[in-house]
Amino acid sequence: MGVRLRLAGRNGGGRAERAARRRWAVAVGRHVDLVARCRRLVSAVSGKVGSEAAVAASAAAVVSLPSVEPGGGGCAVCGEEMAEGRDACELPCRHVFHWGCILPWLRERNTCPCCRFELPTDDVLCEVDRLWRLLAATAAAARGADLRHR
Ligand SMILES: [Zn+2]
Ligand SMILES: [Zn+2]
Repeated sequence: MGVRLRLAGRNGGGRAERAARRRWAVAVGRHVDLVARCRRLVSAVSGKVGSEAAVAASAAAVVSLPSVEPGGGGCAVCGEEMAEGRDACELPCRHVFHWGCILPWLRERNTCPCCRFELPTDDVLCEVDRLWRLLAATAAAARGADLRHR
């Protein structure tokens, strides 16, 4: 039984990789604690955490989005094909949109129109909430990977 598990583990990534992932989970765990405390504070003062209120993406985050060659497929905002020669913008979640479509969108909200990936915002309370959810998801994924390999 133990041998079989070890073999299965070897197929799914090396021992060093697993150890690195565990160390990382521990490091992330510390931040989760910190952010969780922050989050409680924020929800106490604002009652805003977890609400669906739309907040604009941070200007710095929008400005740093990369321009990419449209690689086929459509723009989810306008539904049109990505024509060649027309600058497209790639969000960190790898979804691609026309610049002219995504800029007005990100002035209204900070989420990807396709998958609701969240971009940073200039709103401190929203940032704490966003980081919290990001860390919680990351920590959960790391824990899941760890458990699967045990
Ligand atoms: Zn478009
Ligand atoms: Zn997306």
